[in-house]
Amino acid sequence: MSAESARTTESIAFRSGLEVIRGVEPRIADAIAGEIDDQRASLKLIASENYASPAVLLTMGNWLSDKYAEGTVGRRFYAGCRNVDTVESVAAEHARELFGARHAYVQPHSGIDANLVAFWAVLAQRVESPALERAGARQVNDLSEEDWAALRRDLGDQRMLGMSLDAGGHLTHGFRPNISGKMFHQRSYGTDPATGLVDYDAVRAAAREFRPLILIAGYSAYPRLINFRLMREIADEVGATLMVDMAHFAGLVAGKVLTGDFDPVPHAQIVTTTTHKSLRGPRGGMVLCDDSLADQVDRGCPMVLGGPLPHVMAAKAVALAEARQPAFRDYAQRVVDNARALAEGLKRRGTRLVTDGTDNHLVLLDVSGYGLTGRQAEAALLDAGIVTNRNAIPQDPNGAWYTSGIRVGTPALTTRGLGTAEMDEVAALIDTVLSSTTPGTTKSGKPSKAAHVLKDGVAGQVAERAADLLAKHPLYAEVDLT
Ligand code: PLP
Repeated sequence: MSAESARTTESIAFRSGLEVIRGVEPRIADAIAGEIDDQRASLKLIASENYASPAVLLTMGNWLSDKYAEGTVGRRFYAGCRNVDTVESVAAEHARELFGARHAYVQPHSGIDANLVAFWAVLAQRVESPALERAGARQVNDLSEEDWAALRRDLGDQRMLGMSLDAGGHLTHGFRPNISGKMFHQRSYGTDPATGLVDYDAVRAAAREFRPLILIAGYSAYPRLINFRLMREIADEVGATLMVDMAHFAGLVAGKVLTGDFDPVPHAQIVTTTTHKSLRGPRGGMVLCDDSLADQVDRGCPMVLGGPLPHVMAAKAVALAEARQPAFRDYAQRVVDNARALAEGLKRRGTRLVTDGTDNHLVLLDVSGYGLTGRQAEAALLDAGIVTNRNAIPQDPNGAWYTSGIRVGTPALTTRGLGTAEMDEVAALIDTVLSSTTPGTTKSGKPSKAAHVLKDGVAGQVAERAADLLAKHPLYAEVDLT
């Protein structure tokens, strides 16, 4: 790092913070410093990760963290929440303005929490409120034991329709290992086997037959766009509430790359998101909704959340303020341009891509053409300093653990400043590693789905080329810890 970066306010702030931490537990100070070193040195292609700004990071390390503030702005169960009220209302204001939403709830601690808040808001609106009305009760405590038991049965007897996991859906959309799968009867829509795209006629047919309470759209591994206008039409036709989980692509909505039919906010009654993926904020979640659900959403705490994290809500406010700057629109467009360039680079080298390309921030490689499982490919790429994650592909013969896919995304490298020409080089590096890898064997000499063998010397050569690429775009250039 340069003498100039050693003197920046950011360098002084982080260095001082680490010194204070080192005085208490040096191993933690070392781990924090070690993390920036690791992030600087790796070619990060995890589609759900990013690099939050120093302002966002610094906003999380302070005394706002000490305050309990259950409730909502101006209606807290604890005294002394003046500053938390400011923090929460500024964050919500930025969220409403940025996304054009009627209501924003910024308390969820993560994406899964945001989804739980949304599910229970819809259940409260559509199942609990009518039950209270029928019983002439103002709130659940007023119900007889019999009516309460009937309501609990009804709450646990609702249906949800969402995208299947192997088409790119998310575990929190009603799958059994997650609490959502234990709450709802779930059915999935897949993608067209020929094109890999969402087939809206098939979604409509499934909705007509299954009649879900909630139609959920959103994904973590679908490389194309979803038409939310059509999804709302389908939901309305069957009396479902349309919920969109935009955890992955919120940054593209914020940056106005996804507009019209592809912007979920005007179409869905309720939208959830994480704040730390393409939106580039702190780890956390958020719910946006129309007026009809606002009161129910605001009951997220104590319904499914504990006390809010005021320091993280503050960091959400800072990140949302950043996302309202014109530079963020430019960033979002570059994320998509980079993903397209990466996809083109891979295709040109013969890699098979699910849906044959991308319209958003992620690309899903089918690595079976290289004779590898996703697990082998992921490990070989990591050997060369390229960080990705394995992912199931539609009708994956290797299942969700070994998989046949590798998911890559461009939000992080775009934050770092890499451009389309460099994405071609990244594609070349990926192809070099995968073409130089063969499946390994188990201890007993049988073919393994986990072990891999990367040709001697390749990891070093690729890591060197990746390091050259990264050196042109220093990460956190304004932060010098030396
Ligand atoms: N929803 C989607 C679509 C996601 O991709 C994820 C994270 O992977 C989540 C929800 C959960 O987010 P978190 O890890 O913050 O709970």
